[in-house]
Order: sequence, then C-alpha cells, then structure tokens
Amino acid sequence: MTRWGMVVDLGRCVGCQTCTIACKMENGLPPGTLWRTVLDVEGGEYPDVNRAFVPLTCMHCADPPCYDACPTTATRVRGDGIVWIDNALCIGCGSCVVACPYQARHLIPKERYYFGAATPPELATYDRSRIGICTKCHFCFHKFDGAPAAVMPGRDAEYTPACASSCIANAIVFGDLDNPESPAARLAAQRGPGAHMLEHLGTRPSVVYLNVPRIERQPPRLQSSWHGLAVSNFFFGTAGTGLYLLSTLLGQSGVPQAPLLGWSGGAPLWTGPAAGLVAVPQWVGLLGPLLVAIGLLSVGAEAGRPLRGFNVLRNLRRSWMARESGFAMLFMLLALVDTLFWPHPLLRWAAALAGLGVTLSQGLILAKAKGVPAWNVRIMPLVFVTSSVLAGAGALLLLAFAAGAAPSAGLVPLAFGLCLADWAVWRTYLATPAKTATFSQAVAVLKRPVHAWTVVGLGHIVPALLLAFAWGGYGNWALPLAGAAIVAGGLMAKFALVRKAGFLVDLFDRFGESAQLPSERSERISPAAAKAA
Ligand code: SF4
Repeated sequence: MTRWGMVVDLGRCVGCQTCTIACKMENGLPPGTLWRTVLDVEGGEYPDVNRAFVPLTCMHCADPPCYDACPTTATRVRGDGIVWIDNALCIGCGSCVVACPYQARHLIPKERYYFGAATPPELATYDRSRIGICTKCHFCFHKFDGAPAAVMPGRDAEYTPACASSCIANAIVFGDLDNPESPAARLAAQRGPGAHMLEHLGTRPSVVYLNVPRIERQPPRLQSSWHGLAVSNFFFGTAGTGLYLLSTLLGQSGVPQAPLLGWSGGAPLWTGPAAGLVAVPQWVGLLGPLLVAIGLLSVGAEAGRPLRGFNVLRNLRRSWMARESGFAMLFMLLALVDTLFWPHPLLRWAAALAGLGVTLSQGLILAKAKGVPAWNVRIMPLVFVTSSVLAGAGALLLLAFAAGAAPSAGLVPLAFGLCLADWAVWRTYLATPAKTATFSQAVAVLKRPVHAWTVVGLGHIVPALLLAFAWGGYGNWALPLAGAAIVAGGLMAKFALVRKAGFLVDLFDRFGESAQLPSERSERISPAAAKAA
C-alpha cells in the first residue's frame, strides 16, 4: 500500500527558503500564506551554541487531529495517506487550526494580492475557492495523480512536490514510504532511525527528519485563529445553558405552564412584588436559548464562510464542534417549543440535558486541541461545566433584581456553593501537572495579578462574600452585585483562557530524542544546567 511521505535531512538544509517560494509559486498562495517554510532556530549558550534550519509543512499524519476536529468533513484522508481539504465544504471555523500541533494550517481571511491589484501571474494561479477557508499543503498531489506507471514521484522531478524537486541541497526527499525502492524509503533505511516531530502526541507523521541537532525551546506564540468572537461563543454558550439547566434543577424552569400566557405552577423561583409575573418567567425560558444563539452567531461571524454554516452538522461522528452545534440546535428547539407552544417537564429536562451537551462539547473542543497545551487537558470539560452553572446562577440573581423580586431562599446558598466549587475546579486546573514548559508558561500567565484578580477575585471571592452577606440577612442589595461579579468574572475567565493562555505547542519539544543515543540525549542539557550539576 502506498504511503506518501518525506524524509528531511537537517544536516543538508541551508535555509535558503527555495522550497518555500517554489510551494508558493506552484500552488498560487496569496500574501501571508505559507504552506511550508524553513524555521531558522538558534539554541544553546555561548560558547556552546548551535543553529538549525528546519523545513516545516503538514506532516500528513496517519492519525491526524485536524481530521477529527473538522466539523464539516472538509478535511479528508486519502488511502495513500495524503490529508487534504475539500474547499467546497470548509467554513473556515479554525477548529482544525488549533487542533493541529504542527502549525500547518492557514486561514485565508480575504482576497489579497501582493501589489494591491492582481498581477497577471497571480490571476493565472489564484484560487478564489480558498478565500475564507482553511488551507494547507497537499504534497502537490496534482503533480503525480494519474502519472504513468513507469514514473516514480520523488525520483522524477516533474511528478514530485515542488518543495522537494526544487531543494538545492537535496535535503527534502519525497516518496512512497512503504515502497523500499522509493528515494524516501531508501534514504530512511540507509540513514538509520529518523525522528518525527512531536512524536509523543501520537499523530504518527509521514515526515521523517534525519540529523536532528539539539534544538532548544523557542519563544512560544499565541494562537491567532480564535479571537473575541470565539470568547463570546464560549461565554454566552455556557452562560445560556447554565441558566437553563439551573432553572430546571431548581424545580421550575421559569417557563410558563401554559403556552405564551398564563402562569400556573411550581414553587416560584423568587418571591416579592414581581413573583408570578409572566414576563419574568418567560425571559428565563427564552433567555438561555437566546444566549446560546448569540454564541452561535459569534462563531458564524468569526468563520470565513458563515453561509455554509449548516455544514457543521456533517461530522457528528468525530468532531466536538459538530456535536456542539448539534446540541445547541436541539437545545434551542426544545426550549422554544417548551416555552412557547407545548410546556412539558420532559421537554424541559431534555432541553436542559442538550444544554449540558453544548457545554461539555465546548470543553472537549478545547481539551482535544493538540496545538494548544493550556487547553489540551482532561479537566477542561469540568472547567466548562462548573463555570456554566455558576454563570447561570449569576444570571438568575440579576434577573431577580431586574424583576424587582427577591430570589428564593434556595438560590443564594446554591450560588454561594457554586462560587466555591468553580473556584476549586479552576485551582485544580491551574495545578494540573505540567507536561511541557509551554503549559507552565500559560499557567503563569493565568496566575498574573490581572487575571487572578478578575477571574478569582471578581468571579469567585467577591460574589461569595456578597452572597454570604445577603445569606446572613444583612441586605438583599448585595445580590445583584454578586450576580454581576459572577458574570463579569466568568467572561474574564474565558477571555484569559482563549486569548491570553493560548500558546501554541513547542514544535521542538523532545524533538529527535527517540533517534538519539543516550549519550547524545544527555548533551541536550543546557550548559548552565550541566554546570549546576
Ligand atoms: Fe492535520 Fe496538522 Fe497532521 Fe497536517 S500536520 S495532517 S494539518 S494535524
């Protein structure tokens, strides 16, 4: 069976970037988009310093996280191992970009040319179907698909990916890794064990590196695929579902027992002059779906091709983003039917569980993102669930205030307990044993005073004190303040997590260790550490 791959000899690469330009020319890539590049990395401490050039591209993983993350099935894997993107299906959501640990995927946000207006060569190669979607290397399969039987890609330049055929140092060798006669397989066999980048992540790349020198950790970069609108989705999604779930758990969802008008049952969620007003319970029943809808619209606004939005349901089998969308649609549908047309406890509970599905899916989207160590942790779904229910409690306290009513006795201690529970989960998340220096750096950022004060201080300690104050009978004026603090702190937590702690994985983490002898491995200790030892 064919498995296309590359063998890259770092001992030969001179860092000329010819492969980078050849790829751009072959594939008509617009400004700002590089499907491959050559990293120029330095390491060590004087006088023990080194420099390496590392060609980097899509690894065409045998177990590609991008494939699972893609909600639309736009990412496909061919029988010969090539991972490619069906431009007609991609919506440009960016979930594959954060899932890929190799920084190999690139969103093309808008039509751009090098000199403003398109030049004739650009017009000849520009592919407008890539605007607004994610793109990446496909091993130039158009060059060898359907090639005559006598031809061997990797040996015959015309049928070889542009990067490999243009490499001036023969540092990039392409071929069928399963065919011992192919140049790539022969080179790999001759030169001993090669190294895979980020091998420990289990992606099983099809790019093998030879002669890997000692490369130290490079300064990490923040992910740039998801911005404020992604924060908005994670915040409004969790707050809306938490509000609905908590209302349902409290014994009456706030939804009227007869459609649209007429309030007839259950213990009131709050008491006071406005208790029993139809308007307030209806808000509660409709507010959850409304907040989730705002979250979904945020995702749509962030995606490059929002009009293809319904494609997100195509990959329910594997993608947590697809499942998030599916649960969100189900949640909104059930909650609206229950609220507006056919009130029934079963419908309400089904909606609440679908809402829980939204929250868990959001946590799992981050937990499966192998490209971002601060998100790629097991506890992330729990972080989302507790923050969701706490945000729901904060919203209920604010709603009671807006209705001119006092919350029922049960809501105040519950909100107090949720403050403590969510705080404990956040602390546990920050105490997750660090597998990489990048994770430690992200945690250090989240512990900075600005985030500690906003996430923990504003989001947990202040509301807990205010709630305790009100609980002790010292005044209900503290309750809306507690609700506002909870909501503001929850928003800051999602912002810090997505925008401030989202460092990309260190490409050189443990790079080459498996291909090195134990004695060589020990040389990877920095001179300073060696001196200390
Ligand atoms: Fe997907 Fe990234 Fe692996 Fe390429 S390198 S197959 S984009 S996970």
